[in-house]
Amino acid sequence: MSELVIDVRGLTKSYGERVVVDHVDMQVERGRIYGFLGPNGSGKTTTIRMLCGLLTPDEGEGSCLGYDLRSQARLIKRQVGYMTQKFGLYEDLSIEENLDFVARVYAVARRRARVGETLDKLGLGSRRAQLAGALSGGWKQRLALAACLIRDPKLLLDEPTAGVDPAARRDFWDQIHALAAAGMTVLVSTHYMDEAERCHQLAYIAYGKLLARGSVEQVVAGADLRTWSVSGADLMRAAALLRQCAGIRTVAPFGATLHVSADNEQAMAAALAQPALQGLRATPIPSSLEDVFIALMQSAHDNYGHAP
Ligand code: ADP
Repeated sequence: MSELVIDVRGLTKSYGERVVVDHVDMQVERGRIYGFLGPNGSGKTTTIRMLCGLLTPDEGEGSCLGYDLRSQARLIKRQVGYMTQKFGLYEDLSIEENLDFVARVYAVARRRARVGETLDKLGLGSRRAQLAGALSGGWKQRLALAACLIRDPKLLLDEPTAGVDPAARRDFWDQIHALAAAGMTVLVSTHYMDEAERCHQLAYIAYGKLLARGSVEQVVAGADLRTWSVSGADLMRAAALLRQCAGIRTVAPFGATLHVSADNEQAMAAALAQPALQGLRATPIPSSLEDVFIALMQSAHDNYGHAP
C-alpha cells in the first residue's frame, strides 16, 4: 500500500448548534491530487483545514504527514502550503521582492538562491521586477503558488480563485500535476467539472457529510445512474414534465438537448410512455461526472429538506 499522507477518522466540527463537518473519514496517499466538491457552505474548507492541523476538530482523530492531528498540529502546519481565496501578497512589491519577503519571514535557508530557483521553476523569471498589483489573476495565482513552494511544503492546499482565465487555469493545473508527480500531495476545493476530472481522487461533501469519494470512474459508477440525451420539440415543457416523474433523478439542459438521469431504464421508459411526452427521442449516453454531481446535490436537498 502506498504511503498515507492523511489518515483520519470521525472528523467533526460544529459552529454553535450547527454541525458543519459530520464524522468524515479520509485517507489520502502521497503524490495524489485530491479534489473536494460540493455546494457552497457544505464544509469543504472546514474539512480541509482540519485535515492539516489548521483547525482543531471537536471530535475525531488521525494523522497528517505522520504527525498526530491534535497534539502535533504545529509540526503539520509548517509543512503545509496554503493558497487561500484572497491574494495575500503585497501589491506594491515586485514578484521577486514578494518572494524574498516570504523567504525572510519563514527563514528559508539559502534564501537568495531559493528565490531564483522558485522564479525559474514557475516561469516568473522574466517578470521578476513587475509589481504584484499589476499582474492578471492567472499570474497572481502563479505568484501565490511560488510563495507557497519557496517553503518546500509537503502538502499543498488550494481554494478556488476567482478571476483566473481558462488558459491560465490550465497552466496552473499542469503545474499542480508536475508537483504531484514529484511527490507533493494536493488538496483542492473546486467548483469546476474540468478541474474535478483532473484530480486523482474526489470527495463530494454536502451539508457536512461525505456523500461520495473515489476516482472519477469510481464516483460515476458508484452513483448507479442511467443517463439519456433527450431531443424533440418544446424541451422546456418536456423538462418540467420529466421532473415530476417517479425515478427521474435530474433533468438538465445541455445545449439543444436535455440530459436526463434516472434510477433505471424502467423509470425512464415509464416517463417517456406518458402521452404528453410522446415524440421525444432518448439516446442512452454514459453518465458524466457533472450528471452525477447534479444528482448528488439533488438527493442531498431531498435528504436534508433545506439548502445551507
Ligand atoms: P465550503 O468550503 O464548502 O464553502 P466552509 O467549510 O467554508 O464551506 O463552511 C461551512 C459552513 O460553516 C458555512 O455555513 C460557514 O458559514 C460556516 N463557518 C465556517 N467557518 C466558520 C466560523 N469560523 N464561524 C462560524 N461559522 C463558520
